[in-house]
Amino acid sequence: MNSKNFASQSITIAKFGGTSLADFHTMLRCAHIVKKDTSNRLVVVSASAGVTNYLVRLSKKNVSVKEQALIIAEISVIQFNITQHFTSKIKEPLNIEVHNLLNILSHYAHSQFNQYSAKTADKVLSFGEMFSSTIFTKVLQSIGVVCEYFDVQQVMKTNSYFGKAIVDEQLLKIACQQLLLPSLMNTVFVTQGFIGQDKLGNTTTLGRGGSDYSAALLAEALNGNRLAIWTDVVGIFTTDPKITSQAKAIKEISFGEAREMATLGAKILHPATLAPAMRNDISVFVGSSKEPEKGGTHIKHQVDYTPTYRSISHKREQTLVTIRSVTVLQQSTFLAKVFIILAKYELSADLVTTNEFSVALAFDNSENTIPTLLISTVVENLQEFFEVTVEHNLSLIAVIGNDLNNTKGIGQSVFGKINEINIRFISHGASTNNVCLLVKDKDTNQVIESLHDSLFSYMT
Ligand code: ASP
Ligand code: MG
Repeated sequence: MNSKNFASQSITIAKFGGTSLADFHTMLRCAHIVKKDTSNRLVVVSASAGVTNYLVRLSKKNVSVKEQALIIAEISVIQFNITQHFTSKIKEPLNIEVHNLLNILSHYAHSQFNQYSAKTADKVLSFGEMFSSTIFTKVLQSIGVVCEYFDVQQVMKTNSYFGKAIVDEQLLKIACQQLLLPSLMNTVFVTQGFIGQDKLGNTTTLGRGGSDYSAALLAEALNGNRLAIWTDVVGIFTTDPKITSQAKAIKEISFGEAREMATLGAKILHPATLAPAMRNDISVFVGSSKEPEKGGTHIKHQVDYTPTYRSISHKREQTLVTIRSVTVLQQSTFLAKVFIILAKYELSADLVTTNEFSVALAFDNSENTIPTLLISTVVENLQEFFEVTVEHNLSLIAVIGNDLNNTKGIGQSVFGKINEINIRFISHGASTNNVCLLVKDKDTNQVIESLHDSLFSYMT
């Protein structure tokens, strides 16, 4: 992207994911991306690849001192492998900073062993972004970018819901306007995604993969024009390229379609990311920091082309609960009773289909979105009144597009190709933008491949 494309006051918030910051060479590539486009004013970083996973292990209950030492050693290998590439003038003070951070981390890990708390778990989890932001600031400086490290906790004010803290967007805006905006045109700031701070000054985290969301919130708070998400793929694909090599990068996609993809399982963006951008008409770009010259996907309000079929996403680990009325209750009473029980446990289903005497509910069990225990408690309660069957290990496959409920021949195009597959559930018509199926987990790849072949054959 050429800096001349932007007005002098244009503000881009650039977010780099973990694989982009995995080692010194990938970091250097990211630094050149920042340097090349002078509209990049705020850089939001994830932890280097793998670090947060180690920190998750470290943050758990009852991790022995020996195990803690091993995990911290793994993390230090990743960090020092990066810092060793600097000239000694930068390396020596930087290594001291990294050592200090490692010492503080090990202090928190010990206290977690003595007495576990969710608060300390978040503190531990925050270190990945602390390391990467500290180091990446130096990488940028080393190639002549005028930049400064910025502690995001000064602005990203949240509640105290550790592990999935909610951001106070108003406080964020005020703090950004006071602390960041006045200097933003003179210096590039490098800050952490994923972490925040509660009213008492405790570190919080926004949930796994939350850096995209942090970047979007910061873009909103700074009245940014553009949010660039740099990752390891050249944009958003029509489906997971690991499943079919036929998957194609999408050049342009609407916010609505992209949001649908993120919520229905496409891993490319954290699902909450697009809301702040949509509210403020901030254009979003997703591209690969490995191959920035290849361009990427532009997400915006108005796109030139709105195809019937845009993409296929999927989510594994879905649970289907089918409830049958054993007595001849009236349908309305039956459904009301089922949903009262769900409401009692604050459990909401992702998909629902119903006929007179039965209702099928699909629950997202992936990444512990809903604790399995909660589902079984609700099932037990339902069993007091109804006949209930539960099926695990299903996959949700969503065909995403435009105007799907008004297009003729969807049934034939979507289901015709997969008639030998046992489809456990279909939801079509409730949304204009998707048709959802549940299939057995083992059939996932085959279904996606066949659907992709038939629905996207028009793309060359
Ligand atoms: N480092 C955090 C994670 O791995 C946040 C992020 O990468 O977005 O979940
Ligand atoms: Mg990510």
